[in-house]
Amino acid sequence: MSIYFFNTMGRVREEFKPLNPGEAKLYTCGPTVYNFAHIGNFRAYIFEDLLRRTLKYFNYKVTQVMNLTDVDDKTIRDSRAAKISLNDFTAKYKQSFFEDLKTLNIDPAEVYPAATDHIQEMIALVQALMDKGFAYQAEDKSIYFSIAKFPQYGKLARIDMENQRAGARIKTDEYAKDSVADFALWKAWDENDGDVCWDSPWGKGRPGWHIECSAMSMKYLGKTFDIHTGGIDNMFPHHEDEIAQSESANGCRYVNYWLHCDHLIVNGEKMSKSLGNFFTLRDLEKKGYAGAELRWVLLGTHYRKKLNFSFDACEQARTVLKKFNELFLRLKEVNGSGGDEDIKTFAAKCQSDFAAALGDDLNIAEAAAAVFALQHEANRLIDLGKLSPAGAETVRAQFRDFDKIFAVFNVDNAGEAEVPAEIMALAEARFQARKSKDFAKSDALRDQLKSLGWVVEDASGGFRVKKI
Ligand code: AMP
Ligand code: ZN
Repeated sequence: MSIYFFNTMGRVREEFKPLNPGEAKLYTCGPTVYNFAHIGNFRAYIFEDLLRRTLKYFNYKVTQVMNLTDVDDKTIRDSRAAKISLNDFTAKYKQSFFEDLKTLNIDPAEVYPAATDHIQEMIALVQALMDKGFAYQAEDKSIYFSIAKFPQYGKLARIDMENQRAGARIKTDEYAKDSVADFALWKAWDENDGDVCWDSPWGKGRPGWHIECSAMSMKYLGKTFDIHTGGIDNMFPHHEDEIAQSESANGCRYVNYWLHCDHLIVNGEKMSKSLGNFFTLRDLEKKGYAGAELRWVLLGTHYRKKLNFSFDACEQARTVLKKFNELFLRLKEVNGSGGDEDIKTFAAKCQSDFAAALGDDLNIAEAAAAVFALQHEANRLIDLGKLSPAGAETVRAQFRDFDKIFAVFNVDNAGEAEVPAEIMALAEARFQARKSKDFAKSDALRDQLKSLGWVVEDASGGFRVKKI
């Protein structure tokens, strides 16, 4: 079965054809570790997780590289303000980033290279650009890429180069399209950098932001690789500059498929640190939302559409996941009898719809529709007493398969995960007392559980604990 992606380069839907059959090499721009990532950032990482999981679902061997930007204008500015060394400052946010990935059940990439561990690779790449005449040293001693030497500059972001000011230079890492200019590859040290600097053939300084992704992707994935992703704001200048650097230095195409996700917005505006309208994952956890609920919210909108974040959406996610949980509990107890073949056929149809939706440029809404269809059918059959234990297992197996992508379903442990151990122990003691017909004891334990806010129900051959 084929996968189709919308390639930002060319703005067309294309069949995915990897360089090596059966393998997918993927570079995803990672966090700038100067603060806790906000859920807008996680929208991008969840989209990339969906991409990665889909490639795996289609049996590709995936090699994903995600960089950690631990030296740039912002990390230096904020570590200096905090009077902490750059390394100690970024270490804290690297750690919290990995914790947050776990909370959201984002599968880890194969490699997380940090920029500061690859300064020599970056210097070598800048040197190659100097040697080939694509870069020059300016009066301020910094090295700039000359966009006039790369006539294809602007091909990704579709910038009209006719009306650009020739020879203008820009030193900051981030800038808007209306300041298209020669950009910094290597920044000569100045006082604002404090003690952050490395020696180079051009004097002490530090790399610009864009060069790290060119240098590190080349090291881990090769000069040309399959897929490069990021949020849409990364398209310009970051990805445009990566293309210019890599294709000029290597003389070959940099990336075959560019995928960009649209923004997460709040009240009509992009969520961003600079606007101050952001929630970190931790903010939302403190409000009582679980990782799975937030994952559902961040995953549910097609990646090329704006995702409107709201607390209503979080509440809806909670309700939806609760209903799935209820189904998984019911599935444990079914004892109906009926068309095992029919439910097999139905589940197989849901699976093929699910796969077709994912292969269609990661159409998550359609994929979810297939999941809901199976949920609906299973509940219907249970209501009619027409689902057998074997049929229930068919449904469960299909949900385990869906969960390779969604990673939010508690198919086998529904209802158990949230029950504290001491409550489980009391419930178990009550069950044993009942089994040995010590009803006085079992009733007392039932009352004790009730006073703690839990109700225990008997189920075939066991029991079930629920919050009151
Ligand atoms: P940064 O740490 O700013 O380099 O951003 C890390 C990733 O998050 C990049 O891929 C950005 O494009 C992405 N990003 C930042 N803000 C948002 C947002 N509001 N919605 C979606 N993606 C975002
Ligand atoms: Zn990047």
